[in-house]
Amino acid sequence: MGPEPLVHVLLVSFPGQGHVNPLLRLGKKLASKGLLVTFTASESIGKQMRKANGIGQDLTPVGEGFIRFEFFDDGLAEDEPRRMDCEYLPALEKAGWEAIPRMVNKYAEENRPVSCLINNPFIPWVSDVAESLGLPSAVLWVQSCASFAAYYHYYRKLVPFPSESALDIDVQLPCMPLLKHDEIPSFLHPTTPYSFLREAILGQYKNLEKAFCVLMDTLQEAELEVIDHMSRICPIKAVGPLFKSRQAPSASVRGDFVKAEGGCIGWLDSKPLGSVVYISFGSVACLKQDQCEELALGLLESGVNFMWVLKQPDKNVVFKPVTLPEGFLEKAGDKGKLVEWSPQEQVLAHPSLACFITHCGWNSSIEALTSGVPVVAYPLWGDQVINAKYMVDVFKVGLRLARGEAEMVTRDVVAKCLLEATEGPKAAEIKENALKWKAAAEAAITEGGSSDQNIQDFVDEVKRRAIAIQSRTMGVVDDLVAKASPTELVSPADRIS
Ligand code: UDP
Repeated sequence: MGPEPLVHVLLVSFPGQGHVNPLLRLGKKLASKGLLVTFTASESIGKQMRKANGIGQDLTPVGEGFIRFEFFDDGLAEDEPRRMDCEYLPALEKAGWEAIPRMVNKYAEENRPVSCLINNPFIPWVSDVAESLGLPSAVLWVQSCASFAAYYHYYRKLVPFPSESALDIDVQLPCMPLLKHDEIPSFLHPTTPYSFLREAILGQYKNLEKAFCVLMDTLQEAELEVIDHMSRICPIKAVGPLFKSRQAPSASVRGDFVKAEGGCIGWLDSKPLGSVVYISFGSVACLKQDQCEELALGLLESGVNFMWVLKQPDKNVVFKPVTLPEGFLEKAGDKGKLVEWSPQEQVLAHPSLACFITHCGWNSSIEALTSGVPVVAYPLWGDQVINAKYMVDVFKVGLRLARGEAEMVTRDVVAKCLLEATEGPKAAEIKENALKWKAAAEAAITEGGSSDQNIQDFVDEVKRRAIAIQSRTMGVVDDLVAKASPTELVSPADRIS
C-alpha cells in the first residue's frame, strides 16, 4: 500500500489585497503544521501575484507541509469595469461554482483529496460548494472580532442601529464600548453609498452555521471579552496576528498584487531611530484631492521624516487620481520618500519608525498594533472607523486625526497631531502601550500561545474530519474513527512527491 497523502485543504480567496494577505498567511501557518495547502482565487489577481512575487504552480515546502497556488478564470475580460462593482460578486460566484468542484475532483483523482474548504468574506457560497461536495468548511474572518459582533447584531436585529428616522443614535453591543453613530462599520449606515458591500459582508452570516469554525485574524488578548461573548454564539478561534511567524519568511510565498519598491528599507536605515512617520491608506482607499494636499502640507509643516505610500487608484474604481502640491517633493527633500507600494511588514518592524498614519484597515491595524508601532488614525469608511475607535480608545496606541471620509483635516491639524504623536508624554504613552501589545503578540505565536494553540487545535480538527471523510468513503465504522488519534494517519511531509 502506498503512503498516505498529507491532509489537503483548499483556501478560496476573494480577490482583494486585504483578503488575500491574511488568508495566505493562514495558509502558511497551516502548511507549517503539516497540511498540504492549495490557495485559489481568480486569475485576475493570479496574474498580478505571479508577476509581483514570482510564484509558480509548484509545491513550496513550508515547515512540515506544502503550499501551492492554482487560479481560476472568473469569466470577465481583464479590464472589465464590472470587476469593481456589485455585478462582480454574482459573476465570481458563478465561476467559482464551476471551478472549485472541478479542482476538488481533479485532486481526488490525483490521490490528493481535499478535506476542507476555507474562504474569506464576500464569497460565502464557498460553504455551499463544500456542502455539495460533502466536505467541511471554515471561514477566515479578516476583520476584528468587534466588527464581526457589530455585523452580527445588525444582521440579527438584536440592538437598534442608526436608521433613516434615527441617523445619529449610538450603538451599545455586549462586551464592547459604546459606539457613536460614526464608529459603527459605515456600511451599516442607511446613507452609505456602498450598500452592496454591506450585503456582501452580511452574506457570510446567512451561511455561518455551515462553517464548523470561524477563524479570526485577531489577537485573542486584545479582544478577549468580545471574543469570549461571540464564542458562545459561534465557533470562533482567534488565530492572529497571522503575519507574525516564528519561521523565516518565505520570499516566494507572498500575495502582493504589486511588487514592493526596492530601497524602502535602505532609506529607513539612513534615518535616526524613531524618527519616521509611515503613511498608507491600504490597497483600495484614496484620499480626495483636497485632503491629500492638506496632508502633504501638514507633513511639510511638521518637519518630520516620512515614507508615504501614494498608490494611484485602480482605473476602474470610483476614486480619482491625485496630484501632490507643486514643489512638494523638492521641499521635502531627503526628509520624504514617496512609494507606490511598500514592504509594509518590514517597514513596521523597522526601528526608525515613529508612527503610522493609517486608514485603519484591519490588516494595517493588527500589523501596527503587534509590531509595537503607534498610529495616527485617519479612517475613511467600512470597518476602518470602528478599528480607529479601538486603536485609540481601547488598545490606546494612537491619536485620532479623522472620523470618516467626509471630514476635511487641515494642514495645521495634521502638523499638530504629528507633533503630539512623535514627541512628549502622549507619544511616550502610546509607544509604551504598543510595545505591550507587541510582547503579547509574540507570546501568542510561541508554542502553546493563544494563536499557536488555536491553529494547532484547528489543524487537529481538520485532520479528524479528514479521517472521518476517508472512513465514510471506505465504509469504516464511524465509531472507530472517533477513537483514532488524529495524528495516526498523517504522513510526514517527505511522503509527498
Ligand atoms: N500593504 C503593503 N504595502 C503597502 C500598503 C499596504 O504590503 O504599501 C499591505 C498591508 O501590510 C496590509 C494590506 O496591504 O496587509 C492592506 O490591508 P488593510 O486591511 O490594511 O487595508 P485594505 O487594503 O483592505 O483597505
